[in-house]
Amino acid sequence: MQLSSRASSLTPSLTLSIDSKAKAMKSEGIDVCGFGAGEPDFDTPEHIKAAAIAALEAGFTKYTPSSGIPELRQAIADKFLIDNGIDYKPSQIIVSDGAKHSCYNAILATCQPGDEVIIPAPYWLSYPEMVRLAGADPVFVHTKEENGWKLTSDEFENAMTPRTKMIILNSPGNPTGAVYTKEELDSIGKVAAEEEILILSDEIYEKLVYDGAEHVSVASLSKQAYDLTITVNGFSKSYAMTGWRLGYMGAPEAIARAVDSIQSHSTSNPCSFAQKGAIAALKGDQQPLSDMHDEFDMRRNYMFDRISKIPNISAVKPLGAFYVLVNISQLGLTSQNFADRLLSKANVAIVPGAAFGDDRTVRLSYATSIDIIKKGLDRFQDFCRTL
Ligand code: PMP
Repeated sequence: MQLSSRASSLTPSLTLSIDSKAKAMKSEGIDVCGFGAGEPDFDTPEHIKAAAIAALEAGFTKYTPSSGIPELRQAIADKFLIDNGIDYKPSQIIVSDGAKHSCYNAILATCQPGDEVIIPAPYWLSYPEMVRLAGADPVFVHTKEENGWKLTSDEFENAMTPRTKMIILNSPGNPTGAVYTKEELDSIGKVAAEEEILILSDEIYEKLVYDGAEHVSVASLSKQAYDLTITVNGFSKSYAMTGWRLGYMGAPEAIARAVDSIQSHSTSNPCSFAQKGAIAALKGDQQPLSDMHDEFDMRRNYMFDRISKIPNISAVKPLGAFYVLVNISQLGLTSQNFADRLLSKANVAIVPGAAFGDDRTVRLSYATSIDIIKKGLDRFQDFCRTL
């Protein structure tokens, strides 16, 4: 079979082998504690489900405009203004099949062969592949643990070349849990503005910030930043709607139009009745969101406290998302080797940092019950002591 160079250049997901091994062990009846999840373990709130069910029953089952129904685009524009201080017109909003799709279409609409895209590492594993699918080249900048795994504006400036087209920011971040401050984003935004570099700001974990940390949208900071930024967000993480496949972006008009065109020729509209659920999510009761947030926060404190007491490993307390990134570099194992051994010897599944472009680390998700977290950390701790 002759595959395209585009398809053959993709790296198979490093997480897959651990994941399939964990699943195989579970099906053999082995009690595996899974810290691999990238999705909330909660169900979608009832009022959101009810709105989608009502839409289905009312026959809202046909094609919609490819960028989403006007009522949802307006609700998203309102959300951007109220929550983020960004003034987008509904014409600048595109609803897609998940924030992953939003990121991909934004990259496809703006990047091409010859372009470079700066990606701070550790990164969410799909960004480099999306950039490669667009024919552009990812450029990784390795952030430092002492900087809280955050890119500095100097590091950004040093990574820039005449080919730099875009930088990808992800705050709160996966896998780091890092939350950039207003000052940090402002100085990165200024460097981008000097060279007119686009910013793809993936803000999917916006609602999951802790310890008084504030989520700031880079597009809200100045007119120059607004003109260069594509702000991506979605429903998966905040509203526990991963399976609904709904994400969105706010972008400069020309980029929004280009993404609309790409979508109209590739996927068409996001699922019609799911869009009605999304309106209920944005406009309805926000209490479930706050309850999930508080539960995540409790688990985060528990997991971080336990991990910080284990000798020879370290972690920065995450201020956002639902992951703890653990530095295992002192243990002398590759992240893949550590993860493989942890799974086979202690029945604990985690994600090796190599999947995120950083072999010094492993990622533990606390999007699972506190009982599993307790049991899994007992095993994790015992395993680390044997090394
Ligand atoms: N961005 C980041 C940083 C993520 O971690 C994820 C989900 N793993 C996504 C985007 C994609 O989310 P969605 O389900 O909306 O496609």
